[in-house]
Amino acid sequence: MSQVYNWQLGREMSYPYDARYPGRQFAFVFNINRCIACQSCTMACKSTWTFNKGQENMWWANVETKPYGGYPKFWDVKILDLLNRANPERQRWTGGVSDDPKAMYGQFSGMTIFEAIKKSIDVQSSRVLGYLPPDDEWTSPNIFEDNPRGKTGVRNKLHETGEQLPVHNTWFFYLARICNHCTYPACLAACPRKAIYKRPEDGIVLLDESQCRGYRKCVEACPYKKTMYRPNTRISEKCIGCFPRVEGTDPETNGVPMETRCMAACIGQIRMQGLVKVAPDGSWAEDRQHPLYYLVHVAKVALPLYPQFGTSPNGYYIPPRWVPREYLRQMFGPGVDRAIERYENPDRELLAVLQLFRRSNRIIFRYEIKEGPLVYEAAYRGRNIKIYNDTVIAFGKDGKELFRTTVQEPLHVRPNKHQNSI
Ligand code: SF4
Ligand code: SF4
Ligand code: SF4
Repeated sequence: MSQVYNWQLGREMSYPYDARYPGRQFAFVFNINRCIACQSCTMACKSTWTFNKGQENMWWANVETKPYGGYPKFWDVKILDLLNRANPERQRWTGGVSDDPKAMYGQFSGMTIFEAIKKSIDVQSSRVLGYLPPDDEWTSPNIFEDNPRGKTGVRNKLHETGEQLPVHNTWFFYLARICNHCTYPACLAACPRKAIYKRPEDGIVLLDESQCRGYRKCVEACPYKKTMYRPNTRISEKCIGCFPRVEGTDPETNGVPMETRCMAACIGQIRMQGLVKVAPDGSWAEDRQHPLYYLVHVAKVALPLYPQFGTSPNGYYIPPRWVPREYLRQMFGPGVDRAIERYENPDRELLAVLQLFRRSNRIIFRYEIKEGPLVYEAAYRGRNIKIYNDTVIAFGKDGKELFRTTVQEPLHVRPNKHQNSI
């Protein structure tokens, strides 16, 4: 085992291999507050990559209703339970949230899935704490859709008095998921064939199917359950980060790096994907005008999914405002309260950057803001708010402008002659 630095945990941790980092890292931010569970992302991936025989139960992109839904069934409950049993001290964080980019959420003092395995008495042959879901847990990707948790904790038992922020008594939310192309991938760590690798140019984690022999160690190890076994070929497969689009080599991209299929199809405009600069210790290098760097490291509204697992996932989420905080802290770590507070009271820059989501399929590398006039002023929940119609401009890899958009959405009035046309 080597010691590597995990900035999401604010400390070093054990990992089976020495640290090796890409120049840039595939990363994304999903704004859960906007997801409508239309499943356009799910179907965009399915119809592109997993529509063949033997892939019927294979959903690289999925959207599940929390807290009851999950694909595979109960994946998060099961891995959290394993981690809790291995962690007598439970999953505690110390030090508090800070502005230190190397320990933004404090320090995780529990054991990660790489550390907990050393304490386990029943899986001595494994390098990562995990479990292999049985076949029937992969067959219902949308189980418990829209099933809320009531005040009493009983599924579908609604609270009688209606709901009000800051926290709803009856609640659910949609969690969109793909492979996190982790900085310390558990799938890669567990593979005895060394069939899984992380690309040095963009950090996308790929599985070389010619090397795979179907031992399913990756399926067992990935805590997010994002590698999947294909029974008719007897090898495993996983999300490929739509790498031809990201490289700009897909015929549709015309040489320009484009966002993946699941990102580009997002109806709710919840998704932004990018390639962030990586520092020599694996943390994010400062890149102030990169929209993902801004959301994660400056505004601090986007948080990693289950950072305590230790894989340093590169998927970040703006947490849903209405969900009980304890549940969210378990899922996204101690940064939740700060993230929600900032998202609910966005400053001028955050409001402008939030307009960048899904205005284009091309990958944004930098943004600039041009200040505009004050267009709205009001008191809202005890605070005075002011909204300015700023213009936010996005630039691509080559430094050329991709598009510009404003905070205030333009109003289009349909001319009379088109009134009844579709
Ligand atoms: S999410 Fe799972 S499959 Fe994807 S890189 Fe991380 S450990 Fe591997
Ligand atoms: S990045 Fe591409 S391969 Fe991965 S889930 Fe999204 S659409 Fe599927
Ligand atoms: S396409 Fe977007 S809005 Fe629709 S389910 Fe997927 S993430 Fe949610």
